Amino acid sequence: MHHALWQSVLGEIELSVSHAAFTTWFKNTELIDNNNDVVTIAVPNIFAKRQFEVKFNEQIKAVLEKNGVTPERVVYTVKTTGKKTVTRETTVTAISDQSSAAVDELLRPASSPSMRSQSSTSNGSGLNPRYTFANFIVGSSNDLAYTACQAVASNPGTKYNPLFLYGGVGLGKTHLMQAVGNEIASTQPDARILYISSETFVKEFLESIRFKQKGFSDKYRNVDVLIVDDMQFIAGKEKTQEEFFHTFNALHQTNKQIIISSDKPPKSIPTLTERLRSRFEWGMSIDIQMPDFETRCAILETKAALSGIELGRDTIEYLANNIKTNVRELEGALNQLLAYAEMRGVSPDISTAEGLIGNVRQSRPQHLSAKQIIDKTARHFQIDIKEICSAKRDKHIVVPRQIAMYLLRSELHLSFPKIAIELGRKDHTTAIHSVEKIEKAIKLDFMIREQVTEIREKLYV
Ligand code: ADP
Ligand code: MG
Repeated sequence: MHHALWQSVLGEIELSVSHAAFTTWFKNTELIDNNNDVVTIAVPNIFAKRQFEVKFNEQIKAVLEKNGVTPERVVYTVKTTGKKTVTRETTVTAISDQSSAAVDELLRPASSPSMRSQSSTSNGSGLNPRYTFANFIVGSSNDLAYTACQAVASNPGTKYNPLFLYGGVGLGKTHLMQAVGNEIASTQPDARILYISSETFVKEFLESIRFKQKGFSDKYRNVDVLIVDDMQFIAGKEKTQEEFFHTFNALHQTNKQIIISSDKPPKSIPTLTERLRSRFEWGMSIDIQMPDFETRCAILETKAALSGIELGRDTIEYLANNIKTNVRELEGALNQLLAYAEMRGVSPDISTAEGLIGNVRQSRPQHLSAKQIIDKTARHFQIDIKEICSAKRDKHIVVPRQIAMYLLRSELHLSFPKIAIELGRKDHTTAIHSVEKIEKAIKLDFMIREQVTEIREKLYV
């Protein structure tokens, strides 16, 4: 009976969430109890449990209601059969509690029980078992990339080849590419997978020339899956690009999967040779962006749970609200909070978080002024400071002016009327619109995001 009800709920949910979200989170779930106003859903692991509590709870309640069940609460519990729970993505041992040892176990693929190393495996693939699909939180900023990576993992060399992931630092590119490698390694144990950074490729290539070593080409051409991280480092190195071009062709012609990441899309990597650029554009290029607020909350909650700690909602929201740069910094802030709380024997609550984040803020230069922001923005776009503060409506001035307004808001927290005055405006609604426009554009437009990041870096040198 429970089964039919849950199938009906799932059927409806499948229509309203992305395919990636559905396969990741809803497969292998079960309604195990419906009693005393409490519906209990069994989920395969602690990541799923977090995701359900944070993200899907309201939706599930609503769909249950549509199906005539109106519980007061829905509880999510990790399956406790003691057997291995096999999900399509990965094989994990079901756990019944949240002790850190058990969670630790969960992070480890079943096939590599004694993997200690954090950096890379010993089999030379360069893969780190820490990165899996199961511990990657999906939100609108990364679900396209996630879906494409899963598609590649289940059918390497056929669909998206090459797969090109791009986006700013710390947004999960390495995590996803590694997850593809780990997934293929577990489903096709014989597949030869090689993960390298483009820096390593450059270094080994130069060494092979310098020391007249043989075998360089073979190493890279005799694989089934080649994953090259941070391709931007190959820019400007023509000889290495040429070598990579041949490696690429050799692999592509034989339907071997190639996955590449970079901080920019192929067309924006300066000094990438034209023929390599056009190869990169053959397959699929996907942008990864900064997760939205809810996804940031889910990431924090999941990562805290991995340390066996349940953070208050206010603390999570505080961190998610204050760290909007990238996931690595978000993780960093969380780790700092947890370490500090443990060391001092205080609770990792919002006031501790405020103290710490406040410190981070104070470590920024105090002297940054509105004038400097405007000046550096104008200089970045090579326009005159008089023009940026004028009433001119030319496009090449309007966008820089909007960016300057955005930065005055994000870096100095100036009020809108104050921002308007700094840029010679009478009406502060222009400032509001400009800031909103850039906030939105940063999410959607790679070029704008890049410009803002570059100017911001210049502000703090
Ligand atoms: P990039 O390669 O884009 O610079 P990484 O893949 O190294 O970024 O990600 C930085 C850190 O953030 C890693 O520890 C990674 O596991 C984590 N991370 C990034 N995105 C997510 C996500 N969506 N869910 C969980 N962890 C994430
Ligand atoms: Mg990386």
